[in-house]
Amino acid sequence: MANPGDFAATVKQQADIVRIVGEYVKLRKSGAQNYQGLCPFHQEKTPSFSVHAGNQFFHCFGCNAGGDVFTFIQKIENITFPEAVRAVAEKLGIPMPKVSYASPEEARRAKQRGSLLDIHERACAFFQEQLKRPDAAHAREYLHSRGLNAETIAEFRIGFAPESGFLLRDAVRGQFDEDVMRESGLFSWKNKDESRVTSNESPNPPATSHQPLATLYSKFRNRVMFPITTEQGKVIAFTGRTLATDDKSGPKYLNSPETPIYSKSRVLFNLDKAREAIRKLDYAILVEGQMDCITVYSAGLRNVIASSGTAFTDLQARLLGRFSKKVVVNFDPDTAGAAAAERSLALLVSEDFEIKVLTLETGFDPDLFIRKKGTIAYTDALAHSQKYFDYLIERARAMYPSRTPESKQKALNYLLPHIQRVPSRLVRDELAVEVSHRLGIDSSVLRQELRHVATSRSAGRVTTPAATQLTDAERVLIRALASPDLAHCPATAREGQDPDFDAARQAHYFLTQERLHEGSAAQAVIDSLLTAHEQSLDPMGLPLDESDRRLVASVLLDDHEELTPELIENAVRSLRKRAILRQLDNLQHQLKDAERRNDAALSARLLQERVRLRRAMGSDGRESSGLHT
Ligand SMILES: [Zn+2]
Repeated sequence: MANPGDFAATVKQQADIVRIVGEYVKLRKSGAQNYQGLCPFHQEKTPSFSVHAGNQFFHCFGCNAGGDVFTFIQKIENITFPEAVRAVAEKLGIPMPKVSYASPEEARRAKQRGSLLDIHERACAFFQEQLKRPDAAHAREYLHSRGLNAETIAEFRIGFAPESGFLLRDAVRGQFDEDVMRESGLFSWKNKDESRVTSNESPNPPATSHQPLATLYSKFRNRVMFPITTEQGKVIAFTGRTLATDDKSGPKYLNSPETPIYSKSRVLFNLDKAREAIRKLDYAILVEGQMDCITVYSAGLRNVIASSGTAFTDLQARLLGRFSKKVVVNFDPDTAGAAAAERSLALLVSEDFEIKVLTLETGFDPDLFIRKKGTIAYTDALAHSQKYFDYLIERARAMYPSRTPESKQKALNYLLPHIQRVPSRLVRDELAVEVSHRLGIDSSVLRQELRHVATSRSAGRVTTPAATQLTDAERVLIRALASPDLAHCPATAREGQDPDFDAARQAHYFLTQERLHEGSAAQAVIDSLLTAHEQSLDPMGLPLDESDRRLVASVLLDDHEELTPELIENAVRSLRKRAILRQLDNLQHQLKDAERRNDAALSARLLQERVRLRRAMGSDGRESSGLHT
């Protein structure tokens, strides 16, 4: 398929994968062309995720994720290839041509997502307008009572959903078709047969059962509207806080249902505004409610996000982990949300976050605390937040204060599951010492308890790549074959470099002429690279199997000397030598065989051949230990 490949190629040529991946992953330069960071696709403590500037690919040796800039964006944003091309083009400011899709289904899904984003943007603007109207006085009064000024209201795009359920519908009906309205999660409708209200929980109501548009009405009525956005700031859902005081008005907080663009387990409230500060300060403040988040943010602490009241999911933890692995948690673990808070903390521990706990005085949430005591008091409390395990140990001692063996055992039983969740064995051991010291128990008891966890964990460890089976010569030739085509990208040609020298062309020439890689561990890989070179394909885009892709990645990512004509010639020479040694080895067996059968003619011919091979080999032919002489 030529399209949208042509445009994709144009975009790819202009994209710098290091810069684009760097928007999601903290990268550190670790070689001439190589950058490393913590993999965003699996949980890890030491970086096995690499990005190669020269060949414009990424590879993770932990989970084997790998590919080009589009693969990366597809995977991390969970979108289709055409959407990834569009996203990268947008980042680079390249205008999009008319998009074509791999399948009609893909086109339909992408179009649907586009429409759903548009209708949310439209609805968000509508709610903002409504907040300024005379009949929204009580909404403005509510926001004012929560200490929000006009600036904050505008920045968070807070709005008001009017009492009438038809105003939003009438505002958008001309621009969006009914399917989009139904799938948006913004509307409810009554079914003809049942008078009961149905919401659009089923994502695709069958087309035949559609009721006339007149039955659609806004799901959010008489509510203050807080938009929920993607990390890029696109509105994908809302939380509506009711302003009604009677019982019939539904829940205090009403959230958009899950839709094709919104999944609450994937979203962190305010991440779009907080992401830069989180990365810069290298920690996030995690609060429970959106209002807490807005207050903390407008008090000037920009690195704050909210989990929106539900327990943290591993997807959210990984999303956050892309910006920092340190978090100060400002939940109140003793309130109604205690179970959710516990689960969130447990998950953050197992996802290897460095956690501190900020405990405010009883009865204070961050919002109330800042409004009553001010920003400085909050910043001060933040600075005195406690390491999570210190906090847990204190809790255990408060719950079981007696110094009897039974009491100590109970405290230990309370702490054990928390410690067992820590992925790092080193950290677990340190904790064991700390806990036994603080509880006054023998640390060997605790270590014993932890031992079986350690062994069950180590079974799943990933081994390091074994490109070491390759010889240096093979590695040089693989690099050469995968080297960027200088003729087609003059910008990358270094100053002072021989303009006629093309590493890939030279390696290709020798290898196809002499088939020097025959029988080597890298034969399949080198053959694919030769084909790729002939067809001007991207080596990292080849349909290699997982272990071969891993092999190529590890060779290219290894720090190495610059490719020169001499380096390639030496590699070729070394492979020739190996080929001759193999032939000599083979010949030696035949010779022995001939001598045993007293075949003098054959022996003479073989001896002659041996002389020829040894001559071809030069003076160093006899050094080989592989010869059975
Ligand atoms: Zn990985």
